[in-house]
Amino acid sequence: MTMSKRATMFVAMLMTCVAVSLSAEPQQSPQPAHVEPPAAVAASPTAPFDVEGATRAYLSKQSPEAKAKSDAYFEGGYWLQLWNFLYTLAVAWLLLGSGLSARMKRLAERITQRRWLQTGIYAIQYSIVAPLLVAPLTLYEGFFREHKYGLATQTLGAWLSEQATVLVVEALLMAIALVPLYGVFRKAPKRWWLWGAGVGVAFLALVMLIGPVYLDPLFNTYKPLGEGQVRQEILSLARANGIEANDVYEFDASRQTTRISANVSGLFNTMSIRLNDNLLERCTLAEIKSVMAHEMGHYVLHHGGKMIVFFGVVLVGGFLFVRSSFDGVRAKWGARWGVTGIDDVSGFPLLVALFAVYLFAITPLLNTYIRSAEAEADIFGLHAAGEPDGFAEAALKLGDYRKLDPGPIEEWIFFDHPSGRARIHMAMTWKAEHLQDSRVAAVSQGD
Ligand SMILES: [Zn+2]
Repeated sequence: MTMSKRATMFVAMLMTCVAVSLSAEPQQSPQPAHVEPPAAVAASPTAPFDVEGATRAYLSKQSPEAKAKSDAYFEGGYWLQLWNFLYTLAVAWLLLGSGLSARMKRLAERITQRRWLQTGIYAIQYSIVAPLLVAPLTLYEGFFREHKYGLATQTLGAWLSEQATVLVVEALLMAIALVPLYGVFRKAPKRWWLWGAGVGVAFLALVMLIGPVYLDPLFNTYKPLGEGQVRQEILSLARANGIEANDVYEFDASRQTTRISANVSGLFNTMSIRLNDNLLERCTLAEIKSVMAHEMGHYVLHHGGKMIVFFGVVLVGGFLFVRSSFDGVRAKWGARWGVTGIDDVSGFPLLVALFAVYLFAITPLLNTYIRSAEAEADIFGLHAAGEPDGFAEAALKLGDYRKLDPGPIEEWIFFDHPSGRARIHMAMTWKAEHLQDSRVAAVSQGD
């Protein structure tokens, strides 16, 4: 996971502390092997191309053992979303009910008279205390479970030291977010919900801007990809799609994970094309090109900007929900918790809990929006790279940890990317309509 992805997640976490994984994940992608279409898939000039048969042939390449493992991992994630949600509510209840949140505010008041600084000090305390309370779940989810499924490569010590960095970064980001947030809560007693959403959008944009440049390098080393065919082909793909890039960067994700990923991110002069070493080592050129073309799709189609606008609308909805519920809860327990109103920072855990309820309820909507953008990038990538079989192989490799063939309702609710089956089907449909495309014809003839 790159830090920019982590940062997107952080925004969700900030509002919810739920790992509902709202992250746009505009990066995950696949692994290696030679792209040889399965026998049943090869096109012949006489017989029409069988899209359904070709899709089934690809899906059957996943062994029953691999399928059982991948399904168990992914379905376990559904339950984790629920546990994360319940855990978030429990932590909020604990912070408020025990009076800890009120004590954190009083400590800040003893340190300084300035209200904005009091908010900042509260934010830092919160970002230390809340993660400690959720530590058992984080440890299971982020370390032991990943190892159990063979997806992690770090030792416990390395993982813990990385978590310490995450803690520091998130404490700073939390302060940067909460100071203006509570500033507008105090200055706009009527329209605080609208201004609050505005602060959320500005914060999201800031994190997306600084993430790739300042945050990602805290966790991985980025270096220019060596001269060679891979670099040339990626740069050619970029030029052909109107992306001005002179370099391609490689980063050492293998120190944390076995997953494959890449991204095209940044604005203006921070724009860069980056891919991880797992992708380079585990994938063929056709697969790498299909993955990079997908990532370029996110960039060319302005998915980052659209995501900010979309989350702006989501935040307005969230703050409206908070407006309709915060005072009701406060009327009942506020006196005991010492929370005087929305502009009282000691009520922040309640804000987090209410946002958690809202985001949990609209999870299918969020996933569907993100999944639609992913499908757009998929089709862009197929057109740009002309590698339907490379893309299908890549989708198959993502099947290491994403259930390949879910039911339609399951996909609608839980998937923030199209399932492997949907992606392979799309690739084979594209292939059927492009059998005359010289790039497709060359692969089909085993060139
Ligand atoms: Zn994507």
